Amino acid sequence: IRVVVGLATCGISAGAKPVLKTLAEEAEKRNMKNVQVVQTGCIGMCTYEPIVEVYVPGKEKVTYIHVNSEKAMKIFEEHILNGNVVEEYTIGSAEVKNKESKDEEEHTSLMDVQFYKKQKRVALRNCGIINPENIYEYIATDGYMALGKVLTEMTPDDVIKVMKDAGLRGRGGAGFPTGMKWSFAAPNKADQKYIICNADEGDPGAFMDRSVLEGDPHAVLEAMAIAGYAIGATKGFIYVRAEYPVAVQRLHIAIDQARELGLLGKNIFNSGFDFDIETRLGAGAFVCGEETALMQSIEGKRGMSRIKPPFPANKGLWGKPTVINNVETLANIPQILYHGAEWFKSFGTAKSSGTKVFALGGKITNTGLVEVPMGTTLREVIYDIGGGCPNGKAFKAVQTGGPSGGCLTKDHLDIPIDYENLTAAGSMMGSGGMIVMDEDNCMVDIARFFLEFTVDESCGKCTPCRVGTKRMLGILEKITQGNGTMEDLEELETLATSVKDGSLCGLGQTAPNPVLSTLKYFRDEYIAHIVDKK
Ligand code: SF4
Repeated sequence: IRVVVGLATCGISAGAKPVLKTLAEEAEKRNMKNVQVVQTGCIGMCTYEPIVEVYVPGKEKVTYIHVNSEKAMKIFEEHILNGNVVEEYTIGSAEVKNKESKDEEEHTSLMDVQFYKKQKRVALRNCGIINPENIYEYIATDGYMALGKVLTEMTPDDVIKVMKDAGLRGRGGAGFPTGMKWSFAAPNKADQKYIICNADEGDPGAFMDRSVLEGDPHAVLEAMAIAGYAIGATKGFIYVRAEYPVAVQRLHIAIDQARELGLLGKNIFNSGFDFDIETRLGAGAFVCGEETALMQSIEGKRGMSRIKPPFPANKGLWGKPTVINNVETLANIPQILYHGAEWFKSFGTAKSSGTKVFALGGKITNTGLVEVPMGTTLREVIYDIGGGCPNGKAFKAVQTGGPSGGCLTKDHLDIPIDYENLTAAGSMMGSGGMIVMDEDNCMVDIARFFLEFTVDESCGKCTPCRVGTKRMLGILEKITQGNGTMEDLEELETLATSVKDGSLCGLGQTAPNPVLSTLKYFRDEYIAHIVDKK
């Protein structure tokens, strides 16, 4: 019998550690060698944490939600000892409760199968299943098989060709084709090249990368080694936020384990290829998620963006050719190399192959981590998986792409999600934060919230962003305090366009997006603040 307890940050915050302790102590006290109690990463349904899943051979998995130590004892005594499922604690009981709610149409089933039915797990394939602190559990799910295949059967050019054929695009937000990025760095001659994993996830409401690192750190290490082989790099850095202590700890454990088994370090798989990885902790500056600022920070300098070109593939870390890939991008790579480009392209759309992970939050019934094929509609994510807005409230808007993205309305719910479609609608894919708003949210306040964030996080290097965003925030505050005029609205729009066009890096170029999209779709709310003076 295998009992897994979700011990990602979501589970730990909800009180999963005492649950794990109770179950593990009971198994030990009774000397039950056939019961394995282990921690795992994010199972996905963060709303229902702490979550315990019980696997009995030959039977269906049972998911228990909102478990505490007392419930854990009962689960142990009734289910694990006597084989009787404690129905009232299961995810199915949440479904029953939901069916009794008045507004059945808006609140779809919360049952396990419903939450996962439209999902396809590639980047998250091991999250919530394996113990992330045990390399053998990763290996048991074909982990490090892709690295073995790459190093023993493929040339670096073969690897890059598969990546180009697969059409994987950067999941950090920009959507640049990964294979092409690698192909720019590969031919550059240098005594040292680098692979960087960008784990500086900073968008408010985004927790995709943290969950991958907490749930499946070896997938990222394996991908970095593959990338290193493809471009001729022997050294990798993972730039990860210091605010992610669980992810950092699991990364360090994973790196040590991989080194011990010869999967990192010298002469991996006796191939003659050397590759090793170190972590670097970011101190919470949002701009350090921008690649040139990130490299400055690794070099020990103040994290500030610089003009491109030169691009990192030519002159990156310490002036050497460097490839920077985001965590989710990397988590896809071992699967692509193991199963092939055609397999990866079998889901997704023509221009955006594969899947995308979203952190679903805000006014949504099922807050959590979801992974869907590209081309899935916003409606399917928000209603079928997310269960719609709670308490019978009407859906008003969804913010995608964090502070760089925009707000979309109910008219956009049937848009198939991919890079081009979201941009055309006035938002962007971004890294995957998806915040849902209901009828009670003021969209001007939402725009102000995101702008406040970018004003705080601007590095100050260029004037349009440093001064322009501050001036925009001033106007927004004036409007929300009931002191705005129609002229202010015009000035806000002019400034937004100037900041977008004139800023040096992505932070400033995208900072006006929440303002511009809310002005486009919710202009009446701005006008109401001005006319009603409130
Ligand atoms: Fe810094 Fe903003 Fe200019 Fe980027 S756009 S360089 S964050 S001031």
